[in-house]
Amino acid sequence: MLNLEQAQAAILAAVRRGSRIETVPLVQALGRYTATALNARTDHPAFDNSAMDGYAMRTVDLAAHAFRLPLAGEARCGAAPGTLASATVMRIFTGAPLPAGADTVVMQEDVQVENGVVTLPRNVVPDQNLRRRGEDFRLGDVLYAPGRRLSAWDLALLATAGVAEVAVYARPRALVVATGDELVAPGAPLKPGQIYESNRLATLSLLAQLGADVTDGGTVRDDPVALRALLQRACDFADRTEARAAGQGWPDCGFDFIVTSGGASVGDYDVVKQVFAEIGEIKFWKVRIKPGKPIAFGHVGERTHFFALPGNPVSSLVTFKLFVEPAVYAWHHAHAPALTLRAQAANGFRRRPGRTEFLRARLYNHDGHLLVDALKGQGSHMLGPLRETNVLIRVEAESAGFEAGSPVTVIPLGAEF
Ligand code: AMP
Ligand code: MG
Repeated sequence: MLNLEQAQAAILAAVRRGSRIETVPLVQALGRYTATALNARTDHPAFDNSAMDGYAMRTVDLAAHAFRLPLAGEARCGAAPGTLASATVMRIFTGAPLPAGADTVVMQEDVQVENGVVTLPRNVVPDQNLRRRGEDFRLGDVLYAPGRRLSAWDLALLATAGVAEVAVYARPRALVVATGDELVAPGAPLKPGQIYESNRLATLSLLAQLGADVTDGGTVRDDPVALRALLQRACDFADRTEARAAGQGWPDCGFDFIVTSGGASVGDYDVVKQVFAEIGEIKFWKVRIKPGKPIAFGHVGERTHFFALPGNPVSSLVTFKLFVEPAVYAWHHAHAPALTLRAQAANGFRRRPGRTEFLRARLYNHDGHLLVDALKGQGSHMLGPLRETNVLIRVEAESAGFEAGSPVTVIPLGAEF
Protein backbone atom coordinates (compact mmCIF):
# COMPACT_ATOMS: atom_id res chain seq x y z
CA MET A 1 0.00 0.00 0.00
CA LEU A 2 1.32 3.46 -0.92
CA ASN A 3 1.83 6.13 1.68
CA LEU A 4 0.44 9.62 1.20
CA GLU A 5 3.53 11.12 -0.45
CA GLN A 6 3.92 8.17 -2.82
CA ALA A 7 0.29 8.38 -3.87
CA GLN A 8 0.43 12.14 -4.43
CA ALA A 9 3.67 11.79 -6.40
CA ALA A 10 2.16 9.00 -8.50
CA ILE A 11 -0.82 11.20 -9.35
CA LEU A 12 1.32 14.19 -10.30
CA ALA A 13 3.51 11.97 -12.46
CA ALA A 14 0.48 10.50 -14.21
CA VAL A 15 -1.65 13.62 -14.77
CA ARG A 16 -2.10 14.53 -18.41
CA ARG A 17 -1.92 18.27 -18.92
CA GLY A 18 -4.67 20.23 -20.64
CA SER A 19 -3.63 21.76 -23.94
CA ARG A 20 -6.70 23.48 -25.36
CA ILE A 21 -6.39 27.24 -24.87
CA GLU A 22 -9.07 29.91 -25.16
CA THR A 23 -9.00 33.67 -24.86
CA VAL A 24 -11.43 35.26 -22.43
CA PRO A 25 -12.09 38.87 -21.47
CA LEU A 26 -10.83 39.84 -18.04
CA VAL A 27 -14.35 39.91 -16.60
CA GLN A 28 -14.62 36.18 -17.28
CA ALA A 29 -11.15 35.26 -16.08
CA LEU A 30 -11.78 34.82 -12.36
CA GLY A 31 -10.54 31.40 -11.24
CA ARG A 32 -9.15 30.53 -14.67
CA TYR A 33 -5.55 29.41 -15.18
CA THR A 34 -3.17 31.39 -17.38
CA ALA A 35 -1.88 29.54 -20.45
CA THR A 36 0.73 32.13 -21.45
CA ALA A 37 2.90 34.67 -19.65
CA LEU A 38 1.11 38.00 -19.18
CA ASN A 39 3.04 41.23 -19.73
CA ALA A 40 2.29 44.79 -18.64
CA ARG A 41 0.95 46.97 -21.45
CA THR A 42 1.99 50.18 -19.72
CA ASP A 43 4.31 51.58 -17.10
CA HIS A 44 2.56 51.85 -13.76
CA PRO A 45 2.15 54.57 -12.69
CA ALA A 46 2.00 55.69 -16.30
CA PHE A 47 3.17 59.21 -15.33
CA ASP A 48 4.48 61.04 -12.25
CA ASN A 49 1.47 62.04 -10.18
CA SER A 50 0.38 63.25 -6.78
CA ALA A 51 -0.42 60.89 -3.89
CA MET A 52 -2.35 63.63 -2.07
CA ASP A 53 -4.74 66.51 -2.48
CA GLY A 54 -2.47 69.50 -2.00
CA TYR A 55 -0.04 71.83 -3.77
CA ALA A 56 2.74 71.09 -6.26
CA MET A 57 5.91 73.23 -6.20
CA ARG A 58 9.61 73.46 -6.78
CA THR A 59 11.42 72.95 -3.45
CA VAL A 60 14.18 75.53 -4.17
CA ASP A 61 11.58 78.33 -4.55
CA LEU A 62 10.45 78.11 -0.95
CA ALA A 63 13.28 79.58 1.14
CA ALA A 64 13.98 82.09 -1.62
CA HIS A 65 10.44 83.51 -1.19
CA ALA A 66 10.03 83.25 2.60
CA PHE A 67 7.74 80.21 2.26
CA ARG A 68 4.97 82.29 0.71
CA LEU A 69 4.18 81.70 -2.95
CA PRO A 70 1.29 82.74 -5.18
CA LEU A 71 -1.18 80.09 -6.33
CA ALA A 72 -1.19 79.66 -10.12
CA GLY A 73 -3.25 77.02 -11.85
CA GLU A 74 -4.56 73.57 -11.10
CA ALA A 75 -3.54 69.97 -11.98
CA ARG A 76 -6.62 67.76 -12.34
CA CYS A 77 -7.12 64.03 -12.79
CA GLY A 78 -7.47 63.05 -16.41
CA ALA A 79 -5.85 66.23 -17.75
CA ALA A 80 -2.47 66.27 -19.49
CA PRO A 81 0.37 67.54 -17.27
CA GLY A 82 0.79 71.32 -17.26
CA THR A 83 3.85 73.42 -16.44
CA LEU A 84 4.58 75.05 -13.11
CA ALA A 85 5.40 78.76 -13.53
CA SER A 86 8.53 79.66 -11.61
CA ALA A 87 8.05 80.85 -8.00
CA THR A 88 4.41 79.73 -7.88
CA VAL A 89 2.56 76.73 -6.47
CA MET A 90 -0.11 74.78 -8.31
CA ARG A 91 -3.22 73.21 -6.81
CA ILE A 92 -3.12 69.42 -7.37
CA PHE A 93 -5.39 66.47 -6.62
CA THR A 94 -4.70 62.81 -5.84
CA GLY A 95 -3.78 61.01 -9.06
CA ALA A 96 -3.36 64.20 -11.10
CA PRO A 97 -0.18 64.48 -13.21
CA LEU A 98 2.68 66.38 -11.65
CA PRO A 99 3.26 69.60 -13.64
CA ALA A 100 6.61 69.96 -15.39
CA GLY A 101 9.06 71.79 -13.14
CA ALA A 102 7.48 70.69 -9.85
CA ASP A 103 9.48 68.30 -7.65
CA THR A 104 7.29 67.90 -4.59
CA VAL A 105 3.75 68.05 -3.23
CA VAL A 106 2.65 69.44 0.13
CA MET A 107 -0.63 68.11 1.46
CA GLN A 108 -3.39 70.68 1.79
CA GLU A 109 -3.72 70.18 5.55
CA ASP A 110 -0.18 71.63 5.96
CA VAL A 111 -0.69 74.99 4.17
CA GLN A 112 -2.67 78.19 4.62
CA VAL A 113 -4.19 79.94 1.63
CA GLU A 114 -5.13 83.60 1.85
CA ASN A 115 -5.87 86.01 -1.02
CA GLY A 116 -4.28 83.72 -3.56
CA VAL A 117 -1.04 83.30 -1.58
CA VAL A 118 -0.03 79.96 -0.09
CA THR A 119 1.97 79.82 3.15
CA LEU A 120 4.05 76.66 3.28
CA PRO A 121 5.77 74.71 6.04
CA ARG A 122 9.55 74.98 6.50
CA ASN A 123 10.40 71.30 6.31
CA VAL A 124 9.50 70.62 2.67
CA VAL A 125 11.91 68.32 0.79
CA PRO A 126 11.89 67.05 -2.81
CA ASP A 127 9.81 63.97 -3.70
CA GLN A 128 7.16 64.33 -1.02
CA ASN A 129 3.78 62.73 -1.74
CA LEU A 130 4.74 61.67 -5.26
CA ARG A 131 4.12 58.49 -7.17
CA ARG A 132 6.82 58.10 -9.79
CA ARG A 133 6.28 56.71 -13.27
CA GLY A 134 7.04 52.98 -13.42
CA GLU A 135 7.75 52.55 -9.71
CA ASP A 136 5.17 49.72 -9.51
CA PHE A 137 6.03 47.95 -12.79
CA ARG A 138 7.22 48.78 -16.29
CA LEU A 139 5.82 48.27 -19.76
CA GLY A 140 6.69 44.72 -20.85
CA ASP A 141 7.35 43.36 -17.37
CA VAL A 142 6.18 39.75 -16.96
CA LEU A 143 3.37 39.96 -14.41
CA TYR A 144 2.36 36.28 -14.44
CA ALA A 145 3.88 33.07 -15.70
CA PRO A 146 1.70 30.37 -17.27
CA GLY A 147 -0.19 28.22 -14.75
CA ARG A 148 -1.37 31.02 -12.47
CA ARG A 149 -4.90 30.67 -11.14
CA LEU A 150 -6.35 34.16 -11.35
CA SER A 151 -7.86 35.69 -8.21
CA ALA A 152 -9.86 38.91 -7.91
CA TRP A 153 -6.64 40.63 -6.81
CA ASP A 154 -4.86 39.36 -9.91
CA LEU A 155 -7.65 40.81 -12.07
CA ALA A 156 -7.09 44.20 -10.41
CA LEU A 157 -3.40 44.06 -11.33
CA LEU A 158 -4.07 42.93 -14.90
CA ALA A 159 -6.68 45.64 -15.49
CA THR A 160 -4.24 48.24 -14.11
CA ALA A 161 -1.62 46.92 -16.49
CA GLY A 162 -3.97 47.43 -19.44
CA VAL A 163 -4.54 43.72 -20.12
CA ALA A 164 -8.02 43.29 -21.64
CA GLU A 165 -8.11 39.57 -22.27
CA VAL A 166 -6.13 36.53 -21.20
CA ALA A 167 -5.32 33.16 -22.74
CA VAL A 168 -6.43 30.46 -20.30
CA TYR A 169 -6.74 26.69 -20.43
CA ALA A 170 -10.16 25.56 -21.61
CA ARG A 171 -12.10 24.11 -18.69
CA PRO A 172 -11.56 20.40 -18.05
CA ARG A 173 -14.74 18.32 -18.25
CA ALA A 174 -15.56 16.35 -15.12
CA LEU A 175 -18.19 13.69 -14.46
CA VAL A 176 -19.29 12.92 -10.91
CA VAL A 177 -21.13 9.74 -9.93
CA ALA A 178 -22.23 8.45 -6.54
CA THR A 179 -22.63 4.73 -5.90
CA GLY A 180 -24.69 3.01 -3.23
CA ASP A 181 -27.98 1.09 -2.91
CA GLU A 182 -28.81 3.09 0.21
CA LEU A 183 -28.62 6.56 -1.31
CA VAL A 184 -31.59 8.82 -1.98
CA ALA A 185 -31.74 12.49 -2.89
CA PRO A 186 -32.48 14.96 -0.10
CA GLY A 187 -36.15 15.88 -0.20
CA ALA A 188 -37.44 12.33 -0.73
CA PRO A 189 -38.76 10.47 2.32
CA LEU A 190 -36.28 7.96 3.75
CA LYS A 191 -37.31 4.32 3.64
CA PRO A 192 -35.77 1.98 6.23
CA GLY A 193 -32.03 1.66 5.65
CA GLN A 194 -31.77 4.59 3.28
CA ILE A 195 -29.65 7.72 3.76
CA TYR A 196 -29.40 11.04 1.99
CA GLU A 197 -26.74 11.34 -0.67
CA SER A 198 -24.23 14.16 -0.08
CA ASN A 199 -20.90 13.35 -1.72
CA ARG A 200 -21.97 14.00 -5.28
CA LEU A 201 -23.14 17.51 -4.55
CA ALA A 202 -19.99 18.34 -2.59
CA THR A 203 -17.71 16.89 -5.26
CA LEU A 204 -19.52 18.70 -8.08
CA SER A 205 -19.22 21.95 -6.11
CA LEU A 206 -15.53 21.48 -5.36
CA LEU A 207 -14.75 20.69 -8.99
CA ALA A 208 -16.76 23.68 -10.20
CA GLN A 209 -14.86 25.90 -7.74
CA LEU A 210 -11.60 24.65 -9.23
CA GLY A 211 -12.79 25.69 -12.66
CA ALA A 212 -14.04 22.41 -14.13
CA ASP A 213 -17.03 22.11 -16.43
CA VAL A 214 -19.02 19.60 -14.36
CA THR A 215 -21.58 16.98 -15.33
CA ASP A 216 -23.78 15.38 -12.70
CA GLY A 217 -23.81 11.67 -13.47
CA GLY A 218 -26.35 10.94 -10.73
CA THR A 219 -26.42 8.02 -8.36
CA VAL A 220 -26.04 4.40 -9.41
CA ARG A 221 -26.72 1.17 -7.58
CA ASP A 222 -23.99 -1.17 -6.34
CA ASP A 223 -24.08 -3.11 -9.57
CA PRO A 224 -21.19 -3.23 -12.04
CA VAL A 225 -23.50 -3.56 -15.02
CA ALA A 226 -25.45 -0.47 -13.95
CA LEU A 227 -22.29 1.55 -13.30
CA ARG A 228 -20.77 0.62 -16.65
CA ALA A 229 -24.03 1.49 -18.40
CA LEU A 230 -24.20 4.84 -16.62
CA LEU A 231 -20.61 5.71 -17.59
CA GLN A 232 -21.30 4.68 -21.18
CA ARG A 233 -24.44 6.84 -21.30
CA ALA A 234 -22.68 9.84 -19.79
CA CYS A 235 -19.88 9.46 -22.26
CA ASP A 236 -22.28 9.26 -25.18
CA PHE A 237 -23.76 12.59 -24.09
CA ALA A 238 -20.36 14.18 -23.68
CA ASP A 239 -18.80 16.13 -26.49
CA ARG A 240 -16.84 13.46 -28.26
CA THR A 241 -15.93 15.46 -31.33
CA GLU A 242 -12.24 15.39 -30.55
CA ALA A 243 -12.28 11.71 -29.66
CA ARG A 244 -14.05 10.85 -32.91
CA ALA A 245 -11.67 12.97 -34.94
CA ALA A 246 -8.80 11.03 -33.42
CA GLY A 247 -10.55 7.77 -34.30
CA GLN A 248 -10.94 6.76 -30.68
CA GLY A 249 -14.06 5.09 -29.36
CA TRP A 250 -14.88 4.02 -25.83
CA PRO A 251 -13.24 4.35 -23.45
CA ASP A 252 -12.14 7.87 -24.45
CA CYS A 253 -15.33 9.44 -23.41
CA GLY A 254 -14.94 13.18 -23.56
CA PHE A 255 -14.20 13.71 -19.86
CA ASP A 256 -10.91 14.74 -18.34
CA PHE A 257 -11.92 13.57 -14.87
CA ILE A 258 -14.38 11.00 -13.60
CA VAL A 259 -14.83 11.13 -9.84
CA THR A 260 -16.96 8.53 -8.09
CA SER A 261 -17.83 8.08 -4.44
CA GLY A 262 -18.37 4.86 -2.54
CA GLY A 263 -17.93 1.26 -3.51
CA ALA A 264 -14.13 1.45 -3.62
CA SER A 265 -13.49 -0.74 -0.59
CA VAL A 266 -13.41 -4.52 -0.10
CA GLY A 267 -17.10 -5.21 0.63
CA ASP A 268 -19.10 -7.63 -1.55
CA TYR A 269 -20.89 -4.69 -3.15
CA ASP A 270 -17.84 -2.52 -3.76
CA VAL A 271 -17.95 -2.62 -7.52
CA VAL A 272 -16.32 0.63 -8.60
CA LYS A 273 -12.78 -0.63 -8.65
CA GLN A 274 -13.85 -3.65 -10.64
CA VAL A 275 -15.48 -1.50 -13.31
CA PHE A 276 -12.50 0.83 -13.63
CA ALA A 277 -10.20 -2.17 -13.89
CA GLU A 278 -12.30 -3.38 -16.83
CA ILE A 279 -12.57 -0.12 -18.73
CA GLY A 280 -9.26 1.49 -17.78
CA GLU A 281 -6.02 1.08 -15.89
CA ILE A 282 -5.76 1.40 -12.11
CA LYS A 283 -2.50 3.05 -11.00
CA PHE A 284 -3.08 2.44 -7.32
CA TRP A 285 -5.74 1.45 -4.87
CA LYS A 286 -5.63 2.23 -1.16
CA VAL A 287 -3.37 4.78 0.50
CA ARG A 288 -2.08 4.64 4.05
CA ILE A 289 -4.12 7.61 5.29
CA LYS A 290 -6.99 8.28 7.63
CA PRO A 291 -9.72 9.07 6.82
CA GLY A 292 -10.00 7.57 3.40
CA LYS A 293 -7.86 4.48 2.94
CA PRO A 294 -9.83 3.00 0.03
CA ILE A 295 -9.20 5.28 -2.92
CA ALA A 296 -8.37 4.26 -6.45
CA PHE A 297 -6.71 6.37 -9.12
CA GLY A 298 -6.03 5.66 -12.75
CA HIS A 299 -6.82 6.37 -16.37
CA VAL A 300 -9.54 5.50 -18.81
CA GLY A 301 -8.33 5.84 -22.39
CA GLU A 302 -5.95 8.59 -23.44
CA ARG A 303 -7.68 11.48 -21.79
CA THR A 304 -9.62 10.58 -18.67
CA HIS A 305 -8.35 10.42 -15.09
CA PHE A 306 -10.55 8.62 -12.64
CA PHE A 307 -10.68 8.93 -8.89
CA ALA A 308 -12.75 6.42 -6.96
CA LEU A 309 -13.16 8.19 -3.63
CA PRO A 310 -14.46 6.52 -0.47
CA GLY A 311 -18.13 6.79 0.44
CA ASN A 312 -17.85 8.12 3.96
CA PRO A 313 -18.59 11.81 3.51
CA VAL A 314 -15.62 13.14 5.48
CA SER A 315 -13.28 10.70 3.71
CA SER A 316 -14.63 11.87 0.41
CA LEU A 317 -13.95 15.55 1.25
CA VAL A 318 -10.47 14.92 2.65
CA THR A 319 -9.36 12.66 -0.21
CA PHE A 320 -10.66 15.22 -2.71
CA LYS A 321 -8.43 17.82 -1.03
CA LEU A 322 -5.40 15.49 -0.92
CA PHE A 323 -5.63 13.92 -4.37
CA VAL A 324 -8.17 15.46 -6.75
CA GLU A 325 -7.37 19.11 -6.09
CA PRO A 326 -3.63 18.78 -6.86
CA ALA A 327 -4.50 16.79 -9.99
CA VAL A 328 -6.87 19.47 -11.27
CA TYR A 329 -4.24 22.16 -10.69
CA ALA A 330 -1.59 20.03 -12.38
CA TRP A 331 -3.88 19.45 -15.35
CA HIS A 332 -3.88 23.26 -15.67
CA HIS A 333 -0.03 23.36 -15.49
CA ALA A 334 -0.40 24.89 -12.02
CA HIS A 335 0.37 23.99 -8.41
CA ALA A 336 -2.30 23.49 -5.77
CA PRO A 337 -2.06 25.77 -2.74
CA ALA A 338 0.45 24.16 -0.37
CA LEU A 339 0.68 26.54 2.58
CA THR A 340 0.92 24.85 5.97
CA LEU A 341 1.14 26.53 9.37
CA ARG A 342 2.43 25.54 12.77
CA ALA A 343 0.06 26.09 15.65
CA GLN A 344 -0.15 25.03 19.26
CA ALA A 345 -2.53 22.17 20.02
CA ALA A 346 -5.27 23.29 22.41
CA ASN A 347 -6.00 19.67 23.32
CA GLY A 348 -4.12 16.39 23.14
CA PHE A 349 -4.74 13.50 20.73
CA ARG A 350 -3.61 9.87 21.17
CA ARG A 351 -3.62 7.18 18.53
CA ARG A 352 -1.89 4.12 17.12
CA PRO A 353 0.84 5.06 14.58
CA GLY A 354 0.65 3.78 11.00
CA ARG A 355 -1.34 6.09 8.76
CA THR A 356 -1.01 9.80 7.99
CA GLU A 357 -4.10 11.24 9.63
CA PHE A 358 -6.08 14.41 9.07
CA LEU A 359 -8.18 15.81 11.89
CA ARG A 360 -10.95 18.33 11.45
CA ALA A 361 -9.91 21.28 13.55
CA ARG A 362 -10.48 24.92 14.34
CA LEU A 363 -7.60 27.39 14.18
CA TYR A 364 -7.96 30.59 16.17
CA ASN A 365 -6.00 33.49 17.55
CA HIS A 366 -5.43 33.40 21.29
CA ASP A 367 -3.68 36.49 22.67
CA GLY A 368 -1.61 36.83 19.52
CA HIS A 369 -0.62 33.23 18.91
CA LEU A 370 -2.26 30.47 16.94
CA LEU A 371 -4.07 27.73 18.79
CA VAL A 372 -5.75 24.79 17.11
CA ASP A 373 -8.54 22.70 18.50
CA ALA A 374 -9.04 19.12 17.21
CA LEU A 375 -12.83 18.95 17.12
CA LYS A 376 -14.92 16.35 18.88
CA GLY A 377 -16.41 13.78 16.51
CA GLN A 378 -13.62 12.62 14.18
CA GLY A 379 -15.62 9.69 12.78
CA SER A 380 -15.51 9.83 8.98
CA HIS A 381 -19.33 9.67 8.90
CA MET A 382 -19.69 12.76 11.16
CA LEU A 383 -20.39 16.01 9.36
CA GLY A 384 -21.54 18.17 12.28
CA PRO A 385 -17.98 19.29 13.17
CA LEU A 386 -17.52 20.58 9.62
CA ARG A 387 -19.36 23.72 10.79
CA GLU A 388 -16.34 24.67 12.94
CA THR A 389 -13.64 23.25 10.66
CA ASN A 390 -11.28 25.80 9.09
CA VAL A 391 -8.10 23.68 9.01
CA LEU A 392 -6.96 20.07 9.01
CA ILE A 393 -4.34 18.99 11.54
CA ARG A 394 -1.84 16.71 9.83
CA VAL A 395 -0.59 13.83 12.01
CA GLU A 396 2.45 12.09 10.51
CA ALA A 397 2.28 8.33 9.92
CA GLU A 398 4.81 7.41 12.61
CA SER A 399 3.29 9.75 15.21
CA ALA A 400 1.39 8.47 18.25
CA GLY A 401 -0.43 11.79 18.53
CA PHE A 402 0.36 14.99 20.41
CA GLU A 403 0.06 16.57 23.83
CA ALA A 404 -1.94 19.68 24.57
CA GLY A 405 0.44 22.62 24.15
CA SER A 406 2.73 20.97 21.58
CA PRO A 407 3.18 22.34 18.05
CA VAL A 408 1.25 20.68 15.22
CA THR A 409 1.08 21.18 11.45
CA VAL A 410 -2.17 22.54 10.06
CA ILE A 411 -3.44 22.85 6.50
CA PRO A 412 -5.69 25.89 6.05
CA LEU A 413 -8.83 25.19 4.04
CA GLY A 414 -9.60 27.73 1.36
CA ALA A 415 -6.11 29.31 1.38
CA GLU A 416 -4.87 30.56 -2.00
CA PHE A 417 -1.17 30.04 -1.20
P1 AMP B 1 -18.71 2.77 0.87
O1 AMP B 1 -17.45 3.49 0.57
O2 AMP B 1 -19.59 2.62 -0.33
O3 AMP B 1 -18.44 1.49 1.58
O4 AMP B 1 -19.52 3.68 1.88
C1 AMP B 1 -19.01 3.97 3.15
C2 AMP B 1 -20.07 4.73 3.96
O5 AMP B 1 -20.36 5.96 3.33
C3 AMP B 1 -21.39 4.02 4.09
O6 AMP B 1 -21.89 4.29 5.38
C4 AMP B 1 -22.25 4.67 3.03
O7 AMP B 1 -23.62 4.61 3.32
C5 AMP B 1 -21.74 6.09 3.06
N1 AMP B 1 -21.90 6.73 1.75
C6 AMP B 1 -21.49 6.22 0.57
N2 AMP B 1 -21.76 7.04 -0.43
C7 AMP B 1 -22.34 8.13 0.12
C8 AMP B 1 -22.83 9.35 -0.44
N3 AMP B 1 -22.76 9.60 -1.74
N4 AMP B 1 -23.38 10.25 0.42
C9 AMP B 1 -23.42 9.98 1.74
N5 AMP B 1 -22.96 8.87 2.32
C10 AMP B 1 -22.43 7.93 1.51
MG1 MG C 1 -21.28 1.68 -0.78
